[in-house]
Amino acid sequence: MGKIWTNSGDSHFLEPEDLWRTRLPKELAELTPRSEKDPDGEWETVHVDGQSFRRKLPTSAMADFKEDSYRAVGVRDAGARIGDLDKEGVWGEVVFPSLGMWASTFRTPELLRAALRASNEWAMGELVPVSDRYVVTAQIPTLVVEDAVAELEWAAENGFRAVFLPTTPHPKAPDWHRYDWEPLWAAAEAAGMVVAFHIGTDPVDLTAGGAGVVFRGPGGAVLNYAETTFSGQRAAMKMVASGALDRHPDLKVLISEGGATWIPFLGDRLLEGYRQHYKMARPKLSRNPKEILMTQVYASFQHDETAVAAHDAMGYKNVMFGSDYPHMEGTFGHTQNTLKDLFDGVSDETRLRITQGAFYELFPHVPPVPAEG
Ligand code: MN
Repeated sequence: MGKIWTNSGDSHFLEPEDLWRTRLPKELAELTPRSEKDPDGEWETVHVDGQSFRRKLPTSAMADFKEDSYRAVGVRDAGARIGDLDKEGVWGEVVFPSLGMWASTFRTPELLRAALRASNEWAMGELVPVSDRYVVTAQIPTLVVEDAVAELEWAAENGFRAVFLPTTPHPKAPDWHRYDWEPLWAAAEAAGMVVAFHIGTDPVDLTAGGAGVVFRGPGGAVLNYAETTFSGQRAAMKMVASGALDRHPDLKVLISEGGATWIPFLGDRLLEGYRQHYKMARPKLSRNPKEILMTQVYASFQHDETAVAAHDAMGYKNVMFGSDYPHMEGTFGHTQNTLKDLFDGVSDETRLRITQGAFYELFPHVPPVPAEG
């Protein structure tokens, strides 16, 4: 078999570190994250929005990211990125921002609005025009519902086709299953905007040791990685159980990086809960929750050996490959080997659905992948 071309439902770009400092008015720029590193290079003091805290320099998520960024030249260079993608056999890709991890540390709506708008304008100017293969996600402030709606509508008017939402909103905002967010789901559906949750983006308590540190001790690294997956599942089940996806049948959700096999499993649990606890279940749904989850939620995976079986054996058709470029959990450097292993002995129909079809259902404007071979 020759080269297998695939689209990717999960990839990342590192914005310039001074993006906010150079684009925001001075009084807001001063509130964005600023690090003072200790001379020994092990600890830093981070100042953000009037808060200061000490932390050990991250040794996991972001540090890995930075190491990877040296070999994946395209993580900071939108033009060079195409070369990396071609080598890997990745055609179109959903591109997530990186600076957005700070959004939950901003305490005022004004700062959050301005910072994310600056990021979106930067992406519009520097990333989107480089290639029609990039589906760049717009960032949405989630502290105030009206601000979220306004930014989504602005993004839609400016050509974005997907918004990135954290798996849990800003710590001071209502959670995703609350009716407060109804205007956002209505706006996303009306604009044909895909709502993309990336796993592991619950608000971070930065004072607790950095992003993604839940467990310490034996197994910690693996536990912390596996743990990130559940945030995506929680976001999906809130969208289903609260009726958000039932009320908006044309709204499509993408859960990136969390694997795919959990969808049929979680669908069973939601259905059982809804059916067996029917008297208590609010709101009532017009379709069964498993059907809603299986049809309106798309899920990207990178190495999961069971993801293809979710498509072939469990009836879940919205399985989407994602390279997670350029993260350590991703397939950069071995995407072709991964694809060949995953699809060895699998029908062309299944392979094309997982590598292309599910993606094009969400993003039909992306040009077709080159002929295989
Ligand atoms: Mn990812």
